[in-house]
Amino acid sequence: MKTPRWIAVAAVLALSGVAGAQERALNPKVSEIVDAVSEARVQGIIEKLVSFGTRNTMSAQDDPARGVGAARQWIFEQLKSYSPRLEVRFDKWKVKKQGQRIFKDVDLWNVVAVLPGKTTPDAQILITAHYDTLNLSSRPAADAPAPPVGEALQSNWEKNADLPAPGACDDGSGIAAVMELARVMSRYEFDKTLVFIAFAGEEQGLIGSTLEASKAKKEAAGVEAVLNNDIIGTDRSDDGRIGNTAVNVYTDDAIDSPSQQLGRFIREIGERYVPSMKVNMQFMQDRLGRGGDHTPFQLEGFAAVRFSTPFESYANQHTATDTLANMSVPFTANIAKVNAAVAATLALAPKAPLVTAAPRGGAAATPAPGAPPRPLTPTIARGRSRYDAALRWRYAGPDSNVKGYAIVIRSTTAPDWEREIYVGKVNEYTLKDVSIDDARFGVKAIGPDGAESLVTPYLYPQRKKAEIQVVE
Ligand SMILES: [Zn+2]
Repeated sequence: MKTPRWIAVAAVLALSGVAGAQERALNPKVSEIVDAVSEARVQGIIEKLVSFGTRNTMSAQDDPARGVGAARQWIFEQLKSYSPRLEVRFDKWKVKKQGQRIFKDVDLWNVVAVLPGKTTPDAQILITAHYDTLNLSSRPAADAPAPPVGEALQSNWEKNADLPAPGACDDGSGIAAVMELARVMSRYEFDKTLVFIAFAGEEQGLIGSTLEASKAKKEAAGVEAVLNNDIIGTDRSDDGRIGNTAVNVYTDDAIDSPSQQLGRFIREIGERYVPSMKVNMQFMQDRLGRGGDHTPFQLEGFAAVRFSTPFESYANQHTATDTLANMSVPFTANIAKVNAAVAATLALAPKAPLVTAAPRGGAAATPAPGAPPRPLTPTIARGRSRYDAALRWRYAGPDSNVKGYAIVIRSTTAPDWEREIYVGKVNEYTLKDVSIDDARFGVKAIGPDGAESLVTPYLYPQRKKAEIQVVE
């Protein structure tokens, strides 16, 4: 196979010493945070969560020891106890009776803990999981005659609401990761804001995350990344497959989407700091036909992914046997460490650069109400020779926290970036004799201490179907 020209060019550049090795060094602060994640703490959190009997969103709201109300109050108080710098709150909704799963009006509270950023607090990294659980025991057997539409099924959901639903793996494991990271990370300061969220209503149809994501959208929150953890506990599936050295990271199905870019970042940074763990990027939204709390954030336009085990136990999931004995605490702790490395690096890094030209005329260029916004085209071109790759980018805001930039390149069918060229603190760079027609390009910003931003890819808006007027 003929080697694409850009590989040869990039190799020459790498040899000449412009490729940045410095940013691949471990940041001691990030390593310290990763090391501080405690298996004993993770286990303690899951044990306590299981002790509430059930955390079903439709279970008791006011029993001090059992049910969803007691569980959320405990999570709230724990988060508050970790650090006075953590701003802990409930985001509360009263959700109206609808469908079979929400068979009565119900109080739905997400628990939110905010660690405000120092220099760019508008940029937020979310670390999330759901604290509610489910026991589907009253589900009719697969061979049972179909119940009359509506009532019979609804009564099953009502019965399910108070059954024992320990939810150690689904999703006690995810909540343990969120809470342990809140404890460890609240001892440090970051440039960006970290937000730790425990959702309710996941098992009723992603209710808590849908409400939280639309709130973030409405408030125009600068959510840069959502790291959702759901079912990160089991390391053996019912067919006997075992593995505790890999985690699936579900992004979405669209090539070079913000969520896929986040997935690549997780593989790069996660494997760098937790070499015992392999990050398997999955370019699909979730496990086939199933859902998770990252998706509502994607639907609002945010970069969001789901961490999940490659080894689900369907026999225990959504039953009374989803217990600590049927999952692995060290596996959960390792996935929490991957989250810690990623969140800490992102929160210390500059924002991702912008690769589209600023709209001409500034605010005056805002389209009239009702008119579709004009898509911004990326600032990549063929240069004066028409056979080079000429890239430009800009930084949103003061770039005092940027040490320099790196261009990344890959062939159009490669899953991940293949070459990285550090170009210093400039806002344009031309790769001589590199075609922009058989490779994909991106750029990232690197901070003074080596923390790197997400990559911003150069993407052309999709061509729209043309309406052709014909005479006959
Ligand atoms: Zn779940």
